[in-house]
Amino acid sequence: MNRTTEVSVPRRRFLANVTGALAAVPLTIAAAHAAGEDTTSRSAPLPRPGQFPVRVISSANGLDATRTAYEAILKGGDTLDACVAGVNLVEDDPNDTSVGYGGLPNEDGIVELDAAVMHGPTHQAGAVAALQNIKNPSKVAKLVMEQTDHVLLVGEGALKFARAHGFKEEDLLTERARKIWLYWRQSRDKDDDWIEPPDELLDPEVKTFFKRPTGTIHCAGMNTNGDISCTTTTSGLAFKLAGRVGDSPIIGAGLYVDNAVGSSGSTGRGEANLQNLSCSTAVELMRGGRSPKEAGLEILRRIAANSVNRLRDKDGRPNFDLSFYLLAKNGDYAGVSMWGPAKFAITDEKGTRHEPCAVLFERVAK
Ligand code: ASP
Repeated sequence: MNRTTEVSVPRRRFLANVTGALAAVPLTIAAAHAAGEDTTSRSAPLPRPGQFPVRVISSANGLDATRTAYEAILKGGDTLDACVAGVNLVEDDPNDTSVGYGGLPNEDGIVELDAAVMHGPTHQAGAVAALQNIKNPSKVAKLVMEQTDHVLLVGEGALKFARAHGFKEEDLLTERARKIWLYWRQSRDKDDDWIEPPDELLDPEVKTFFKRPTGTIHCAGMNTNGDISCTTTTSGLAFKLAGRVGDSPIIGAGLYVDNAVGSSGSTGRGEANLQNLSCSTAVELMRGGRSPKEAGLEILRRIAANSVNRLRDKDGRPNFDLSFYLLAKNGDYAGVSMWGPAKFAITDEKGTRHEPCAVLFERVAK
């Protein structure tokens, strides 16, 4: 790090801000990048351990997940255990077509799941990618973190590992997801040998998935000691090439926690996060003094600027969705989205609810 961009933090205040192993890190934080930036996170004094505000945030599909995780944290549960228990509800839900059981399959009609976990207090992480037949990849990711010397297992190796730990194999393709995939396959190319069925034979819902929906759940939680953990779990991009891995299981791209600073996780076009290492960068922006909202919007602006022409609309704006869910050590939080309106889920002392995301571009209703 360039020494001229470091600032000292009074030792007493710094030690009050961190817990456990993190007390051993160097006593510096990066300076704010430039004059005039939003420094909300940095200027707010941190509570003492035991007095941090309990918060759980997630993507919009995680209302029940945030409630479940919040209750587990209030009972004294570890923040990662709590977040994983929360997202397990969505992994188990056949109606969520972007996560776990019922997730939309790859182009061959096979469900391949990605998931990762990151535990703030120990700075440990685990992940699985392109995992088939196991409906709770977040649990497998946590075991990779806890019971291997590795961070990421993929494909057949991840499945073997899950089997060894007693996970039950099952077909994750629900009838609903199969019908959606089949229609996508049949209507994809006028020149191939699949023929699009007449409208009267189609389940009307099937057609609404034609635009390759994005999904995924990210969930992050903080306890009264200010310890933060998070997890992301997904069936990834609908109809992806077999073996395609998105951002969700890649630490730093799809999610990241620094227990002294905060966390960031994402849903939407994973390739953009892989190309911009978005979540770790968002946490670094918060370390530099940006609020969660400003850090998230800055990442979205960079991604918009870096997008290739084929991914831009006629006005030059990205033609894809991408959202971030950010939680700062002082309890500040935000959801931010490339395109609005969009919302995220939160449970805190005020209850469980959706809140609007800050957005870079607004969709204009036609
Ligand atoms: N980020 C996920 C991926 O690229 C998909 C999504 O969130 O929709 O795999």
